[in-house]
Amino acid sequence: MSDAPSKTLTDAHCHLAALPTKDNGCLLSTRMKNGLVARTVALRLGLPMDDPEEANRRYRARLASSLAASAYVSRAVTLAMDGVYGADGRLDEARTDFLISNDYVLAIAEENKSFLPGVSVNPNRRDALDELGRCAARGAALVKLLPNAQVFDPGDPKHRPFWRELAKLGLPLLSHIGFEFSLIGQDQSVGNPERLIPALEEGATVIAAHGCSRGLVLGEPHFQTMLDMVRKFPRFYVDSSALTLPNRFGMLLKLRGCAELRPRLLFGTDYPLPVWAFPALAGGPGAYLRAKRTANPFDRQFLVQKALGLEPAADFASLLRK
Ligand SMILES: [Zn+2]
Repeated sequence: MSDAPSKTLTDAHCHLAALPTKDNGCLLSTRMKNGLVARTVALRLGLPMDDPEEANRRYRARLASSLAASAYVSRAVTLAMDGVYGADGRLDEARTDFLISNDYVLAIAEENKSFLPGVSVNPNRRDALDELGRCAARGAALVKLLPNAQVFDPGDPKHRPFWRELAKLGLPLLSHIGFEFSLIGQDQSVGNPERLIPALEEGATVIAAHGCSRGLVLGEPHFQTMLDMVRKFPRFYVDSSALTLPNRFGMLLKLRGCAELRPRLLFGTDYPLPVWAFPALAGGPGAYLRAKRTANPFDRQFLVQKALGLEPAADFASLLRK
């Protein structure tokens, strides 16, 4: 029996990490640079933190070669990350832990067609609508937001014009759900899925990240909300990114047998976060060993989902602007 579909998948949630250089427009706070997440990623991927150009080149090359070697995944949406904006709509560098610029993500995607540009525009930016238009004209595939770290509430009615513009431009919104440990969050409840309802009401396509898992090991309070939103909004999707992690895999198990969710479940990894094989144990020891022996992170994510009967039934490619 084959593992069809072969190499037709798009990873809807893949991070393009980068150290700041003189011209890439990215930022990284000293605290973040010396923090556990950055150091672990650098160590695992062999990135020289004292040579940003080389570190960034290696990161891109490794991501491209992993995609090229994958048996199931051909493309990845590579994500930018906007910063925190003050009441005046200007970037607040002191409160921004890291920023991956839209220009960097757009330029890299022009160079390598297996990368789709996932830009990031904080709705609090005073030029937010212009930036959306500029990114759409340059081929953006979606807009990624992380409300916990970007310090805004997607449920705030003042952002409705922003969601309307996304709908008009045909740009899907990908938004983080749940607690955020790798960044310093402020109000964690802005990561609740129901905060995305105004964007759906304004006609935007919305992808809630991490299968709406809370990210706190025990209890998945967003499960019913997610099902209600799937029933009510035909443009509501979730992605499977990070669902193999120990703090989120409980939701992965809950998604089994959830037939009505399957057509809305998009494939995602949250690269460079590790993909764990152990949830595949629920599919038997053979399925687990197969996932465990597969080093390619995209393929391992696919095999874990397959072991649980959660092969992607929808693909991000169907959401792309025509
Ligand atoms: Zn992510």
